[in-house]
Amino acid sequence: MNIILMGPPGAGKGTQAKKLVEEFGLTQISTGDLFRKAHAEQTDIGIIADYFTKFGRLVPDDVTNEMVTEYFKNNLKDMKNGFILDGYPRTIVQARELEFMAAHFGFKIDAVINLEIDPEILKARLSGRRTCRQCGTTFHIVYKPPRIEGVCDVCGGELYQRADENEEAVKARLDTYLKQTKPLIDYYQMKKELTNINGAQTMEDVYKDIKKCLEGKK
Ligand code: ADP
Ligand code: ADP
Ligand code: ZN
Repeated sequence: MNIILMGPPGAGKGTQAKKLVEEFGLTQISTGDLFRKAHAEQTDIGIIADYFTKFGRLVPDDVTNEMVTEYFKNNLKDMKNGFILDGYPRTIVQARELEFMAAHFGFKIDAVINLEIDPEILKARLSGRRTCRQCGTTFHIVYKPPRIEGVCDVCGGELYQRADENEEAVKARLDTYLKQTKPLIDYYQMKKELTNINGAQTMEDVYKDIKKCLEGKK
């Protein structure tokens, strides 16, 4: 099963993707995580990406598409149970490129899930988010506190607050989402491929709805 998980920053994409990975053995492909890893390693892509991510802007399509293509080229054979795209595509150009990749590599997207949520809720989610430096699992100081403060429950890694989690960058990211990514929802809606899910529910209820959607696609 291959899934696209969409939604504004803080909607819960990463949280839900991790649950699907655990239960179904899917591979999570988070372009945000890939950019942060590339930046930590100071690769060419990582250095370019940082110019954009730190201001809450999208990394240019050609750079992003190249990174995802490369990722599929190197890893598709190991994704036995399928994959979840978390944070890709984010523009119509990227969606078209993904269609090209699907034809080229011979895979099919089975579900496009959109987590719908009010922007006011997102601010509280983003300001309280803490991310594991090692495995990328996200926690929340109120909604999902780690067992030990500052330490990842999953791998023991250090939890940190992302550089783009300050008020200005958050505002820019929500703006970017409305301008560049929201049109993509209409694109998938027009193609009759979209399933909307209420992202304001508890993590467990969102997950239940996602599973219901996937059951229907089997
Ligand atoms: P995204 O990947 O879409 O940006 P995350 O999964 O990282 O979002 O979630 C953003 C923050 O909100 C995290 O701190 C996470 O723990 C928290 N969160 C995620 N889903 C929910 C939910 N349903 N209710 C409350 N908090 C949530
Ligand atoms: P969030 O979880 O808050 O939605 P991500 O971790 O997915 O954020 O992404 C962080 C940043 O990485 C984005 O603000 C953007 O700069 C960059 N990025 C991630 N995915 C893409 C993409 N598909 N296209 C362009 N830039 C991206
Ligand atoms: Zn961890």
